Amino acid sequence: MERHVSVAIDGPAGAGKSTMARACAKRLGFLYVDTGAIYRTLGYYMRLMGISYKDADGVARLLGEVNVGIVHMDDGVQHMFLNGMDVTDEIRTPEISAYASGVSAYPAVRSALLEMQREFARTHSVVMDGRDIGTVVLPNADVKIFLTASCEVRARRRLLELQQKGERVTYEQVLADMQARDRQDSGRKAAPLKQAEDAVLLDTSDMTVEQALDAIEAIVRRKLG
Ligand code: C5P
Repeated sequence: MERHVSVAIDGPAGAGKSTMARACAKRLGFLYVDTGAIYRTLGYYMRLMGISYKDADGVARLLGEVNVGIVHMDDGVQHMFLNGMDVTDEIRTPEISAYASGVSAYPAVRSALLEMQREFARTHSVVMDGRDIGTVVLPNADVKIFLTASCEVRARRRLLELQQKGERVTYEQVLADMQARDRQDSGRKAAPLKQAEDAVLLDTSDMTVEQALDAIEAIVRRKLG
């Protein structure tokens, strides 16, 4: 049987995980799997159905009826489907970020999504990004990287991204949202955001995208020999 390689990239919001993981997957010829998009799709459904992510019973009820699908297009772009509807663009708003973070704190939600994520690594060589890939989803990943940057740098990057999409937000708002999400993702009991013991820490605060990408590629090539 073909042996598949897995690269796990974890870290807080705005550290550049998706940009790095996508580019790294392209360089290596691996499949890029964005696991945050799965939580976002669930969060989007809760929002659509008018259920607060604080409503544990409501979240549990909807979890039983929702169908989340992931399809990788020929160009490698990951599309998210919610009960058959393509919601790839709709899930990228600050409100849905908060919903995703809220629903992802429930152990029932996390365990319902675990197999779906592992299946990708069983069937493909992957670069997978998220919060708990190196610690929970793929504890035996061949390469683990914990990508981070200062909160201010991450907020500035996210602000630029949102402004490019035409969203009207201020730096202060983005920074506050990011700090709240950091607190929630790191403080939860179920699979909190933390660096795996065997992960390589990479702080990209003072790096350009190219520099960070080269650093990641060097780590991956060193680990894979
Ligand atoms: O990475 P992204 O910002 O799209 O993730 C949205 C939210 O989904 C995160 O704030 C986090 O709460 C949750 N998430 C998670 N575990 C993952 C990926 C994302 O809990 N592996």
